[in-house]
Amino acid sequence: MEITLGFGSNLGKRKETIEQAYILLEEELGEMISKSSFLETEPWGFESENKFMNSVAVFRTSKKPEQALDICNAIEAKLGRKRSETSVGYSSRTIDIDILFCENKIIDTERLKVPHPLIDKRDFVLKPLKEIMPDFIHPLLGKKISEI
Ligand code: ADP
Ligand code: MG
Repeated sequence: MEITLGFGSNLGKRKETIEQAYILLEEELGEMISKSSFLETEPWGFESENKFMNSVAVFRTSKKPEQALDICNAIEAKLGRKRSETSVGYSSRTIDIDILFCENKIIDTERLKVPHPLIDKRDFVLKPLKEIMPDFIHPLLGKKISEI
């Protein structure tokens, strides 16, 4: 299966942290097939001084989507992401790894929603997606990425 991941970081050495995540994902998830360039963006959904660095990348994996989510969460923790028990909503983070697509699978469980529900609302995801997979058809919207 090919899995498309979205990356964001707005704390510390942002590009280095995302590149570190690529290395760990290649070890634990599978070979990287393609990656976008980095895009610097304003925080989305909350106020912060710290801008984000964003990117997306595609990996070839033999893992199931739920296992891929566990791997992404473990790598976030390893790279220093602290999830606050008390905070509600969005906050600054060393790294966020989201599953954007698992080919044309549709998953809607408590833990995992694929395609990621906010893809079409977020330029910082759409822009790098357009760079590496403009012709991919969003399985729920039925539109090419380049048309969203
Ligand atoms: P956010 O990415 O929205 O800032 P988190 O990274 O803390 O927030 O994710 C919150 C929860 O979203 C995770 O615990 C995870 O189980 C759930 N989730 C649902 N769908 C996805 C997905 N496609 N990719 C990553 N996490 C997801
Ligand atoms: Mg996340």
